[in-house]
Amino acid sequence: MNYTFERWNTNKSSDLYGIDDWGGGYFSLSDNGDLMVMPSPGEIRNAVSIPEVVEGMKARGMDMPVLLRVENILNSRIIELNESFLSAINELNYGGSFIGAYPIKVNQQEQVVEKITQFGARYHHGLEAGSKAELIAAMGMQTDKKAPLICNGYKDQEFIDLGLYASKIGHFCILVVEMPSELPLIIERSKALNAKPVLGIRIKLSTQAGGHWADSGGDRSIFGLNTTQIVQAVDLLDRENMLDCLQMVHYHLGSQISNIREIRTAVNESCRVYAGLFKEGANIKYLDLGGGLAVDYDGSQSNFLSSKNYTQSEYCTDIIESVMTSLDEEKIPHPTIITESGRSLVAYYSMLLFNVLDVTRFQPEPLPDTLPEECHPQIQYMFNALETLSIRNIQECFNDVLFYRDEVRKLFNHGKITLRDRSLAEQIFWATMNEIAKKAKEMKHIGPELEDIERALADIYYCNFSVFQSLPDSWAIEQLFPVMPIHRLNEEPLRKAIIADITCDCDGKMDRFIDSHGFKRYLPLHELKDSEEYFLGTFLVGAYQETLGDLHNLLGDTNVVTIKILENGEYEFVGEQEGDTVANILSYVAYDPKRLLVRFRKIAEAAVRRGKISPQERREIMQVYEAGLRGYTYFER
Ligand SMILES: *Cc1c(COP(=O)(O)O)cnc(C)c1O
Repeated sequence: MNYTFERWNTNKSSDLYGIDDWGGGYFSLSDNGDLMVMPSPGEIRNAVSIPEVVEGMKARGMDMPVLLRVENILNSRIIELNESFLSAINELNYGGSFIGAYPIKVNQQEQVVEKITQFGARYHHGLEAGSKAELIAAMGMQTDKKAPLICNGYKDQEFIDLGLYASKIGHFCILVVEMPSELPLIIERSKALNAKPVLGIRIKLSTQAGGHWADSGGDRSIFGLNTTQIVQAVDLLDRENMLDCLQMVHYHLGSQISNIREIRTAVNESCRVYAGLFKEGANIKYLDLGGGLAVDYDGSQSNFLSSKNYTQSEYCTDIIESVMTSLDEEKIPHPTIITESGRSLVAYYSMLLFNVLDVTRFQPEPLPDTLPEECHPQIQYMFNALETLSIRNIQECFNDVLFYRDEVRKLFNHGKITLRDRSLAEQIFWATMNEIAKKAKEMKHIGPELEDIERALADIYYCNFSVFQSLPDSWAIEQLFPVMPIHRLNEEPLRKAIIADITCDCDGKMDRFIDSHGFKRYLPLHELKDSEEYFLGTFLVGAYQETLGDLHNLLGDTNVVTIKILENGEYEFVGEQEGDTVANILSYVAYDPKRLLVRFRKIAEAAVRRGKISPQERREIMQVYEAGLRGYTYFER
């Protein structure tokens, strides 16, 4: 047992992986090195060991990868959002109230929407639909008539009719006018169906937020009415005697707004429009600020894209304060504030768990003491560079070796040197990189090129999941998610690794990891043990990842397991959803599994006729093929 192993402890693991920074208080470590999950922030007495849950899943025959949901966390997030607004309202003596609406697009899974309406009932937490399909889902899921049902998105007649019927049967349904052309149709349909709508107007703000979704707000946003169009809408409603229907101002600045200043600026601007509509005689009483409440994925508490520079309570206080400041000046009654937070409600409650299948270790081959006589001069130069490497000439040596390596590759491509020569040159190259990485640790400042070496020298841990299916934002917009082992956290992780998935696509990897100063190029992981599986988790994946995921390499939906934490670390499995089978996936891309089976049987039979296989072998082959169709799309043990 080595020295570092004994000195290591779980506090060091906790710091290394930044658990307290990104975990929102829902995660901690047990003394024996397990990652624990808690039902609400800091509720350590009821913490549940995640590796134990994995054992329980394996015992029940659930294969990895698994998306694990902890429904208590969803409940806790809904409470936190609503209570934060309520306490800001109380503290500041705000005259209006708060009500939330969950945007279905953030995670449309039935189970998620059902739990939100259930846990949100005491706050009349509502739903937001951005399409007909989402509205149809919402109308079936929402039974609370006081909870808002907000209809955003481009609307055709069917969408409008559905919304009007929802109002008619008593839903608190708000139709948001997103495009000027929608209004005449809404007016016409409400007369035809004899249903008086509650209307909102989506406004275009000149405020534009940074981040990936910047185009959702600002003058260039696709949706929303500019001031001239707003005035025209008011005139039209007035002419139709329907100005009292106009009750809400709505905007959506974009998702994951990292900077609180942008949130404040947008609130101020929207309050001016709100005040204007009030003075125009509209029956205005709701101010809907859309989504944007960010999640601190990297735990840096900064305005980095994967972070946010404010707390939940600052968010609420700043909004309430800004609304009061703007509207008190004009003596306008305080509105009911609505937000459509999605990401912040659902991100925390899902984690993706997967096993490591294999590792490619970086280990430079030992070099000979001297080079063969007939060795090409370029290779000799490389060897000399390595022998004279020191801290003082580190950059020079790096440049030289890179140059000679490329020269050797050219020579090889022109047939001037042998396969063995090239292999030797590559070995010298990697040995040099390894030495440079060691020396670089002793230096205070290293250039970005030298920093990249660490990544090039990292081990590759091959893991049983698909980035494209389960973490699409990691691939598409380079969003960072916390990744870490879920056990052995009382041991020092001595390997530096990047993660590859099983899609065999060069983009199917994770090589940027959270760090308090931006990101780092490798993840510290433990050495694999022969006798024991090694499990990792990716966290805060409840928002957007599930439905954005695609079927790259025909890897399908993972198994989903939901647990409910009870007292004293007890828990129960409350939901199990089997992932896609191979047959499911093939039918998504228009294969008919039955027909495939018939075809393949013919092919196998032809092989029997030609004497390639026996009829008995045909039977075995067919059994394997059929079992494959019924099986999970991921690696099975
Ligand atoms: C996507 C979306 C949201 C959700 O935003 P989050 O940042 O996830 O809270 C809210 N409202 C509208 C109109 C949206 O399009």
